[in-house]
This record gives sequence, structure tokens and C-alpha cells, in this order.
Amino acid sequence: MQKLKIFLPALLLMLSVAQGPAWAYEHFRVAVYCRAYEVEKMGDMEWLRETWDELSKQIHVDKVYLETHRDLLVVDEKTLEGAIGFFRERGVEVSGGITYTINEGNFFETFCYSNPEQRAKVKEIATYTARFFNEFILDDFFFTNCKCDLCIAAKGDRSWSEYRLGLMKEAAVELVLEPARAVNPGVQVVIKYPNWYEHFQGCGFNLEEQPALFDGIYTGTETRNRTGNQHLQQYHGYAIFRYFENLKPGQNRGGWVDTGGSDPLDRYAEQLWLTLFAKAPEITLFDIRQMASPIRENTRAVWQGTGTSFDFDTMKEPVRLEDGSLFEPAKYARVAGYSLEVIDPVLGHLGNPLGVKSYKPWHSAGEDFLQNYLGMIGIPIEIVPEFPEGEDMVLLTESAGHDPMIVDKIRKQLRAGKSVTITSGLYRALQGKGIEDIVELRVTERRASVREFRAGRGPTSWTDHEILIPQISYYTNDSWEVVSALDDTNGWPLLHRASYASGELYVLTVPDNFIDFYTMPPAVLNSFRQNIAGHLGVRLEGPGEVSLFVYDNRSCVVESFLDREVTIRILLGEDGNRLVDVIDGNPVEGEFREAPSFRGRKMGKDAYVYEVTLKPHSFKAFEY
Ligand SMILES: [Zn+2]
Repeated sequence: MQKLKIFLPALLLMLSVAQGPAWAYEHFRVAVYCRAYEVEKMGDMEWLRETWDELSKQIHVDKVYLETHRDLLVVDEKTLEGAIGFFRERGVEVSGGITYTINEGNFFETFCYSNPEQRAKVKEIATYTARFFNEFILDDFFFTNCKCDLCIAAKGDRSWSEYRLGLMKEAAVELVLEPARAVNPGVQVVIKYPNWYEHFQGCGFNLEEQPALFDGIYTGTETRNRTGNQHLQQYHGYAIFRYFENLKPGQNRGGWVDTGGSDPLDRYAEQLWLTLFAKAPEITLFDIRQMASPIRENTRAVWQGTGTSFDFDTMKEPVRLEDGSLFEPAKYARVAGYSLEVIDPVLGHLGNPLGVKSYKPWHSAGEDFLQNYLGMIGIPIEIVPEFPEGEDMVLLTESAGHDPMIVDKIRKQLRAGKSVTITSGLYRALQGKGIEDIVELRVTERRASVREFRAGRGPTSWTDHEILIPQISYYTNDSWEVVSALDDTNGWPLLHRASYASGELYVLTVPDNFIDFYTMPPAVLNSFRQNIAGHLGVRLEGPGEVSLFVYDNRSCVVESFLDREVTIRILLGEDGNRLVDVIDGNPVEGEFREAPSFRGRKMGKDAYVYEVTLKPHSFKAFEY
């Protein structure tokens, strides 16, 4: 047995070398996007041949998107036809792409959809593109941030969001879809939405009405480095794909990742993996130019060499090509190719994703992107655009307050004997709007600075820094603290529970800085996970910044975003006496743990408990 273990890594290494990039991936397709700037260069066949030759040695590519327009650059007919022919001859599927920017370099200057001349240009580009392609995709920029005099006049008394939502729905139909279908009746038009979904309404991305109009949608799952200017959390890359899948089930055609903010390089691999954990059928790599940029040695993280999921040195090993020769990879294309080879065999074990359903009404904002922070503490999330029926638990953040019927919907869910978790931000937004009919609390303007916590009857635990939270007041014996935050001898609810009919309402106190969730003690996070996500059949125990992905075929993935090795526990229910690592096929040793009881009542659930160690920025996948 010991001998086998020694040989296994070597065997895997041989397999990875043997599996050259000419072989297709089994569980997804790979597309490479080409901007108009690079498509224009394809007029030079020698350049195209060399670029493709180098790319396809490092990664298997099923499809390319050839962009016809960006920044008022329109690729000419002859060049387009030459490039299309080149890829088709090589068995590569070809689709079109449009980026509706006037000047990307000027704060992402978009078209003005109030200006007749610019509208004509938008239409002309769609018509031109539909002549060459049976499918084309709109990259990120089919929105407007124009506030010219025409737009100001046309907006009138409406808010910018209202004006632009209507404008861009109409522009989709009149300037893109109808003209394109007029010249090519079979054309499939796909809209790719970027990563900033909580703010879409402000610039006219209309998630309520556009997905039904387009043939397909596509998801920007790039989250880049969280220190970057958008500060997106890693889990966002997974949750956004799931959310968009729920907007147009079966027609969310893929996830899209660029190489920006990928330092250390593990961050790039994580973005690809998270997209695929969400079950994207296709991954688009942006773009052919970035794929040809050199791998920088300074993106090799300090934890490399310790057996992490992304292994920099294995990635850089020579690739065996179909003719038997070896190729020394040096470009980003290989980072993508290798990362996808790592994940492909895992995906076959995973069924359909499950999560705590979180209802986000159309065009809503509030506690922006909070679901993704909760995903980072091991609560699996599934954002949905309608209030879900029949769920054991529904999670609602402040954005749910945009639904004027939300209190009725909460009440109905509770009367059906189910549970709802609402955030302190949502309770505050609903104060005076009927939420007191369920439980009378006050989310006050007062703040508490805390670093001491107690979950249930457990011991006190501490964080290493102060966390600012809103102080919630409640009526003694009407509702109860599940988790408390303390400061000296004073304290406030962090997770609060109120019974209503046969259901339970939980109120989750959200720290002023959402990221403070990550550093809350494991005992606190474990209680959140048990109470909010305990119905999913598998849950986590341990610190924050470890995510759990649950599937409907008794499989799961745990991924750590920590820079250090971490030991966590996976908890299964009474039928969970087996947990097998799908990567090495080995069972994990577990033990049965009876939940403690208090006055004859069980506090939590009995569980099979499995200890699992994760390297930095690494994942493991299991069947049970
Ligand atoms: Zn304008």
C-alpha cells in the first residue's frame, strides 16, 4: 500500500504528460476569444499560423470567437473570411463576437443609445456580423453609461436605472436581434454578462427581460485578485454562474475568464475551477493575445512545492504532442491547459449543484454581493430570481427588500413550517413595513465593536481584531440569541431566532465590513452553517475562507482560499458512514459524533465527522 502511494504521483505525472492538448476535455468545451485587434492581424496568415500553432500545443481548443468590432474598429470581410476558413479547416468551431465600445480605454466608453447616428452604427455592426456567423456573442459592453444632453433629455423624470433598463431592452430587439435575424434567420445571439450583476440596472443590463429575448446568455466568472478595484470574492465566480443559470436554465452557455489579477497564478486556476464546479458547459478564455503572454516566475506562490492543487512546476513541464515530440510551454495558454486537465477528471463525479436558495428580486441592490461572502464561509449558495417554493430554508439579504411583497412571502414560508434567514440589513430595510408582524426587533443605529463570541452553550471564543456590528434589540423571551457577540459584560445577537407559526425566522447580523465574517471563530461559523445550510446533507466545520460545493448525487467539493494549510471537518448525516476522495480513490477515516443534548433536547444533529486537510488554494472532491 505504501509503495503504491509513492508511485501514484509519478504515475499521475506520466499521465499528465501523455495527455497532450490535442485531446478534448471530457466534461466541457474550451473556446478562445479573439478581439477585433487580433482578428485584424489574422489578415497575415503567417501570423495566424504561428499564433495558432503555439496556442494549440498548450491547450485543446474546441472553438474560437472572432470579434468583428471593438472601439470602432471593424474587421474587413476578406480578413474575416480568411480567418473563418483557417479555423474550420482545422476542425475548430467558429462563432462571432461584438464589443459595443466606442473607446474601451476611455473609462469603457459605450455607445449612446439615444443618439440616432450611434444607434445606426450599432445596428450596422450586428447586421454585418450576422452575415458571417450562425452564432455571435456580445462581450461585456452592451450597456450604456452615456449622460450626454440627448440622454439627459430622453430620461426625463425617470431614474437613470429606469431609463436605461427600458432603453437597452428596446436596443437589444431593434438594433441587434431583429436586424441580425433579418439577414441570417437562423442566427443565435448570445449576451455575455459581466461580473458586476448587483449594479447592472444602473447601466441598463436588464436581467428581467433580456435573457428571454436572446438565444443564450454567458457568464463573466472572472473575479481576479480580490485586492483589485472590484474587490470580488473568489466564491463569486461560482455563484454568478449559478445565478445566471437560474435566469435562463439550460441556456447559460458558458463561463468566461481573463488573465487579469491572476497573481499568484493559483488565482487564475481557481477562477477556471470555480466556473466548472458551477457546471459550465463551456469555458471561454479571454483572449488569444493574453493566452500568448509569458508565464512570469514571480507569479509562483510561496506555497508552491507543497503539493497544492495548482502545481506551478508540473504546469511548466514539457507537453508531449501527438507526433511524440516534447514542447516546452512558456505561455498563459499552458496555465489554462494544465488547470483544465487537473479539473476535468474530477467533474465527472459531480452531479447538479445544490445550495441554500437566496432570492434576489429583479434590479435589486443592497448589501452588495453579500451572498458571495457567505459562500466564502462554507454556506453553499444558489441565487434565484423568484422567491423559491418548498425550500427548507430561504436566505434573504437586503436586496430582497426591493420586492414589495417580501414580508408576505416570508410569512407564507414560515406558515408552511419552513425557515427563513434574513440579514440585519434586510430587517432594517423592512422596519415599519410589516416585518414586526413576524418578530419585533430593532436594528438600531448603535454599533458595537466586538471580538468575543459565544455560540449556543459553547465556550467563549475570540477573533484577533475588533469587528463592528449593528446592535440589535429584542424582547426577552419573545425571541432568542443563537450566537452572541460580546464586549466585556455586554452582548448582542449575531444569529437570532424567532418562531412564527410552525416555522423559524433567523436574523443574521452582518458586520459593517463583510469580510469580517471570515475571521469569526470556527464555533460561530459552524453554527451559521448548521442553522442556515444544515438541510443540504453535508456541511463544513472549521475556519472561514473554505467553500463547500454540494451536488445532488452525494458528492461534494471543498476548496480553501487560505494562504496556509488548513484542517477542516466534513459532516454527513446518519447515512453518511463513507467518504471517498475521488482524486486518489481512498476512503477518509471518519467517526460518528452524537450531538450534545440540553434538557432532553438535542443541540444540533448527530453526524459522521471526517477530518480533511487542504493545502493553500487547493480543493478536494468526495463521494459519500
Ligand atoms: Zn447619450
